[in-house]
Amino acid sequence: MIYYKTNEEIEKIREACHLVCKTLGLVGEMLKPGVTGLEIDKRAEEFIRDHGAAPGFKGYRGFPSTLCISPNSTIVHGVPSDKPFEEGDIVSVDCGTYINEFFGDAAYTFVIGEVSEDVMKLLNVTNASLYKGIEQARVGNRLGDISFAIQDFTQRVHKYSVVRELVGHGLGRSLHEEPEVPNYGKRGRGIKLASGLVIAVEPMINLGRKEVKTLPDGWSVLTRDNKVSAHYEHTIAIKEDGPDILSDHSYVEAAIEKNPNLTSIESAQAVLG
Ligand code: MG
Ligand code: MG
Repeated sequence: MIYYKTNEEIEKIREACHLVCKTLGLVGEMLKPGVTGLEIDKRAEEFIRDHGAAPGFKGYRGFPSTLCISPNSTIVHGVPSDKPFEEGDIVSVDCGTYINEFFGDAAYTFVIGEVSEDVMKLLNVTNASLYKGIEQARVGNRLGDISFAIQDFTQRVHKYSVVRELVGHGLGRSLHEEPEVPNYGKRGRGIKLASGLVIAVEPMINLGRKEVKTLPDGWSVLTRDNKVSAHYEHTIAIKEDGPDILSDHSYVEAAIEKNPNLTSIESAQAVLG
């Protein structure tokens, strides 16, 4: 069952998503060599609660933390740990919030210090593929048009691999609602996109092969070949006049620019030309 949202509900989801992105901005202020995921997670939870909201992920199916922190070969669902981050790490951070009975969801992959050109390009392409997908999120298109756009750009054009086991999703009063939004698929397939559909679009793209493995913690999903993976996510609403991006990475990007320990990725516009 798909729950199409009213404009009023969409605005509540936007509020939750902006708090998510402000929290990711706080992560962007804190990230540096030596800091731990547990330290960042604690501050993120305080920040969210100080804003009258609740962490969206903590306790979800027993997940222990406010943030999913997934360094390097961890694709998603990493559990914050006491292992300090190091120069040269890439760190995917996924955050959810719950406020006024609605969830928000967004993610960003950060770069600590310098990484190889290969890794930087993976991040730039994955982030750009998010916007390639969103561009297709129009009334009258089909869900598969979003999936195809992401897969075509990352896999056919840039020769990366698309994770199959994890997908984007509808959201609203629940963190995960129908429909699933895969990052692979065929043009013209799937449900017709209609006004009021709210979905999280979240390409998870591997530098190496597409296969994954799950750690004994039951959460962390890693690449099986131990090569790095990237993850960028927006929550969007489909409206009559096109996609409306409810989350806002500019909070994150402003924090990265001000943090001398982090490296900015290229804008999607610059990558797509
Ligand atoms: Mg997320
Ligand atoms: Mg999500």
